[in-house]
Amino acid sequence: MYNVAQVIDEKCVAKKGCRLCIMYCPEANCLDLNPTKMVAEVTIDRCKGCDLCVVVCDAAKHYAIIMQAVSATGKLMTQKGESAALGQAYQG
Ligand code: SF4
Ligand code: SF4
Repeated sequence: MYNVAQVIDEKCVAKKGCRLCIMYCPEANCLDLNPTKMVAEVTIDRCKGCDLCVVVCDAAKHYAIIMQAVSATGKLMTQKGESAALGQAYQG
């Protein structure tokens, strides 16, 4: 298991011109703009989990990237929104 970066589409302000994470990601073809959705997008199998994109996005106060655990088979352990749903389920 390892961690990869995941962009929270609703918080990403790439449509306003932000490209910070894309500029800072040290891995080629890993973090790029999705021109259809106009949000930054991580290619999971290229991400090395270095956290740099989280640091720059948080420093700019966008908080649009989180680190997510990935299984050995390359599947995200928790999909976006699932943890919130689980939290609600456990509230009784
Ligand atoms: S730094 Fe954050 S807000 Fe800016 S493009 Fe990347 S994910 Fe989006
Ligand atoms: S964690 Fe590192 S390698 Fe992965 S997308 Fe962010 S900056 Fe790129």
